[in-house]
Amino acid sequence: MGIRTVEEYKESLRDGRRVYISGEKVNDITAHPILGITCNTIGAGYELAASNDPEIRDLFVAKHPETGEPINRLFVTPKTVEDLQNRTKIIQRAIELTGGLPFGKDIGTDCLNAAFVVAGQMGKKEYQENATNFLEHLRKNDLHTCGAVSCVKGDRSKEPAKQKHPDYYLRVVDKNKDGIIVKGAKIHITSAPAANEIIVVPTRQMRENEAEYAVSFAIPANTEGVTFICRGGRGAWSDREFHADHPVRELTEAMIVFDNVFVPWDRVFMCGEWQYSMLLAYTFATFHRFTAISYKVPSVEVLAGCAVAMAKYNGLEKVGHIREKLAAIAAYVETLRALTNAAAREPVMYGEIAVPNPLIANMAKLHFASKYHEILELVQDISGGIIATSPDKRDWDNPDIHGYLEHYLGGSDRYTTLERMHMIHETMRQACSHESAFHEVTTVHAEGSMAAQNMMILAESPLDRYEKLAKAAAGIISREEAF
Ligand SMILES: Cc1cc2nc3c(=O)[nH]c(=O)nc-3n(C[C@H](O)[C@H](O)[C@H](O)COP(=O)(O)OP(=O)(O)OC[C@H]3O[C@@H](n4cnc5c(N)ncnc54)[C@H](O)[C@@H]3O)c2cc1C
Repeated sequence: MGIRTVEEYKESLRDGRRVYISGEKVNDITAHPILGITCNTIGAGYELAASNDPEIRDLFVAKHPETGEPINRLFVTPKTVEDLQNRTKIIQRAIELTGGLPFGKDIGTDCLNAAFVVAGQMGKKEYQENATNFLEHLRKNDLHTCGAVSCVKGDRSKEPAKQKHPDYYLRVVDKNKDGIIVKGAKIHITSAPAANEIIVVPTRQMRENEAEYAVSFAIPANTEGVTFICRGGRGAWSDREFHADHPVRELTEAMIVFDNVFVPWDRVFMCGEWQYSMLLAYTFATFHRFTAISYKVPSVEVLAGCAVAMAKYNGLEKVGHIREKLAAIAAYVETLRALTNAAAREPVMYGEIAVPNPLIANMAKLHFASKYHEILELVQDISGGIIATSPDKRDWDNPDIHGYLEHYLGGSDRYTTLERMHMIHETMRQACSHESAFHEVTTVHAEGSMAAQNMMILAESPLDRYEKLAKAAAGIISREEAF
């Protein structure tokens, strides 16, 4: 098959999977008002791969390295700087072209690429074969995957084996000649209800007494014992909003419960090798933070654009303090872009596989997360209180009061009041809404908390070199010893 149509993708989701949202069991997620938006958002990625425009198709579709058949380019295991740069391009162009993130293959391949690295390091042929065969299955059937890494974790101060009950971290409860049985729950999993395959990776390093938690595998979403419990989303545009013609784009996260789920051996990438759990979690985090910074660039560009446009609509773009704030916003966006590009340009090689530079990828993600709220404050400041109190589209459409809005809500005379209303409402969505609050939390937590990035920055930075240089400067050691 290689490249599927949107309809083929949607049809594949009508497979008896067990999905709940707001207490309701959903039989056909493609027809659900919230989950349907997730399916369409991912579907937009399938449309790009099937595009007749050769420029778009060439970016999203690659040749299978052995057979030459068309495959989605995200299924190319990165081996070169160019492969990594292509991942960034695909993610950013998909957002530009569809208005959303068709996050259908990115995180799954982040997991699988990490599984390849670790299988190679373990030297276990069976895991290498399993990962290779699974990748071929994804390529051939053009499947949407989700990456299930975050466990529910219970009491954060306690290790997996010391929790009140043993299932706060997903674990192997039984094994037989055919496969393993797993139990536990993964949480916050992006686009999970609309995935074909769930790829599971341990959420953290496991110790010797936690070997049953060192487990990684992939299973179809309709496997018996798997239940998705989804968050409610925003739904389609309402008639209160000024909005663009394009549809709402959103991805729903879900908690995935694994209630004694059977996984055949040929779908297992790790089972008990606790010594390698750190490498798997760490390599996944590096790949995934690289994916994250790639998609954060276009999202903060829109936020920055709101600040630029609102300054103009308000007639303030030449005012000193506004220009300083715009400079700070631009520096934030461009630092993120520069770090993202640098992470691809300086990969770390594991055998043939190019892993994005872990130090730079973590610095980029930390830069994005730690400064986002500051930047949001600047956008709110520049835009004015109108992004909190604006009348809505229904007011605009009511002839009794339309004239007042048209007359009083204008700004700079270079723009119409309607243009200003559209920009006010876009800025509201970006900086003063339920959606923007969701994004603030996502900024802090998705792809790991800031403490996780700091840990990896410390692990990857040349602290010894810094120390030696300072000791040489202080005359404690000689310059020769320092270098
Ligand atoms: C919108 C969204 C989408 C996401 N998508 C995915 C996805 O697709 N797949 C996936 O696997 N995950 C996903 N995540 C999960 C994300 O990776 C986690 O939210 C993140 O790792 C933080 O974990 P947590 O939410 O359990 O918070 P916690 O771990 O509870 O963290 C809260 C705070 O406690 C600190 N903390 C936690 N444990 C300790 C400790 N032992 N010692 C010291 N400090 C500690 C943290 O650093 C943080 O400051 C998503 C999250 C969001 C918000």
